[in-house]
Amino acid sequence: MAIQAPEGTRDLLPDEALFWEHFKDTAAEVFRRYGYVLIDTPLIEQTELFVRGIGVATDVVSKEMFAALSGENLKRLLTGEKVKSKSRLSLRPEGTAGVVRAVVEHNLVPQGAAPAKLMYAGPMFRAERPQKGRQRQFSQIGVECLGAEAPSIDAEAIIMLMRFYEEVGIPAASMELLVNSMGCEKCRPAYRDLVRSYLEEHADALCETCMTRAEINPLRAFDCKKEGCAAVMEGAPKITDHLCDDCRQHYADVLTLLDGAGVAYTEDPTLVRGLDYYTRTVFEVQASDGLGSQNAIGGGGRYDKLAEEVGGRPTPGLGFALGYERCMLVLEAAGVELPRAQRCDLFVACVDDSVRAQAFGLVQACRDAGVVCEMDHQGRSLKSQFKLADKLGAARVAVLGPDELAEGACTLRDMGTHEEARVKLEDVPEEMHRVFL
Ligand code: AMP
Repeated sequence: MAIQAPEGTRDLLPDEALFWEHFKDTAAEVFRRYGYVLIDTPLIEQTELFVRGIGVATDVVSKEMFAALSGENLKRLLTGEKVKSKSRLSLRPEGTAGVVRAVVEHNLVPQGAAPAKLMYAGPMFRAERPQKGRQRQFSQIGVECLGAEAPSIDAEAIIMLMRFYEEVGIPAASMELLVNSMGCEKCRPAYRDLVRSYLEEHADALCETCMTRAEINPLRAFDCKKEGCAAVMEGAPKITDHLCDDCRQHYADVLTLLDGAGVAYTEDPTLVRGLDYYTRTVFEVQASDGLGSQNAIGGGGRYDKLAEEVGGRPTPGLGFALGYERCMLVLEAAGVELPRAQRCDLFVACVDDSVRAQAFGLVQACRDAGVVCEMDHQGRSLKSQFKLADKLGAARVAVLGPDELAEGACTLRDMGTHEEARVKLEDVPEEMHRVFL
């Protein structure tokens, strides 16, 4: 059998690749208004970055990462030799750790500087079991703001995310924004102990995974989809009842700013998100149509300790990532029409082979003038050239035959109105330019 794309990956064929470009352009346009600029970090990083950055106990580290090995190191591993820790590389499972690493490495937020507002777009890799809306390679667009802890940073990022979804065509009615605060290093440890005790008290009704989590990261039990666990967690202590004064105020300020901007949200005290590094504000956007259980189309939060964890100075941070493929599924379910990849302004058709060289020259002159222009390269009949022009969606067809050529002209046909006109060859690029550019 012919070789196929690996499980959990997808080819973006031309129409969709074009939409991915449009998706990124829209994000860049919206995010730029909020001061975000592009950053591009490597797809591979030292494994240590993610193990540190994400926390050893999380699923991402325990089972969801792809290791990246050079051929040489693969040989070493197979022969039982050690691989130096610097050479232990992983494909990035998420964007935040790499961006924060880059911010620290290049000192992008010197003391007293304005916050660094960075955005990225590209593939992430997770060795998960593929299902609808869950792939092993998927594309995210994300932002990270480093160097400010004001609630206005959280609020503007959330507003910006919701504006992006609307701008790209996701109907507001098919999304729900969930928000919560996860507290800080002052108030969360005590709360975590409370949840741990609660889990231990209800051990009989919980699944094995949740009980393992109880030891290392009890808050993850809120994420368990099993009915029994979900029922137990309904009665668990809620973080919002255990925030310290500073965190309570920060959270209240974020909500006030969202209210002021008219952004609808639901407070969800069970929203904990997968990664350990989050502090204070966390949020997730869920879609109601087009997705099954994988209904989160984006999410993020504050991570005021992460820069220190990767070896930098204390630098507060906040970010989010949104998943392109899941947004596509929602857009499809909403019946949003995607643009066609192929645009063709002009098709130059030859009446016979004697005019091919002139046709080739005309095509070239039009392209040089910025016109999207095509001709036949397979010796098709005139009729079949018109069929091809139709298929390409050509707006005009220039017919070139010995008669036209004798006048140094072509017949220019408007494929919409079927009107025809004789146009001098040297005037065609300008005429096309006038109409289309
Ligand atoms: P996370 O980094 O897990 O918060 O993911 C952010 C967003 O990326 C999610 O809301 C999804 O839209 C998307 N996403 C995460 N994991 C996957 C996956 N395995 N396949 C497709 N999209 C994903």
